Amino acid sequence: MTPLLPTPDHYIYNLITMTSPEAKRMWRRAIKEHFDCQCVYCGEHYELHELTLDHVVPRYFGGQTITRNLVPSCRKCNQEKGTSNWLSWMRATFGCNPNREQLILSHIK
Ligand SMILES: [Zn+2]
Repeated sequence: MTPLLPTPDHYIYNLITMTSPEAKRMWRRAIKEHFDCQCVYCGEHYELHELTLDHVVPRYFGGQTITRNLVPSCRKCNQEKGTSNWLSWMRATFGCNPNREQLILSHIK
């Protein structure tokens, strides 16, 4: 399993890889594996390549591209969430789910 580090550059600093594209691939994979290849919003499991990474705080609102702001999401949830507030959108779409909400909260804090 790939270690979960804060940014792609950390894979290079830690000599886990020597190239930037590989660092980015490892980083993206590590985030998905960290969540057991599950979409954090709907809770379904997917193959690695089927999952996207969602900015919890959208880039549009200044959300950074760092581990703490990225979670695996299926394409459908990623698209539907768009620039909505993740918690309001999630509750409106799936109802209240304390386990999944806590999973996200502990990742982004
Ligand atoms: Zn989903």
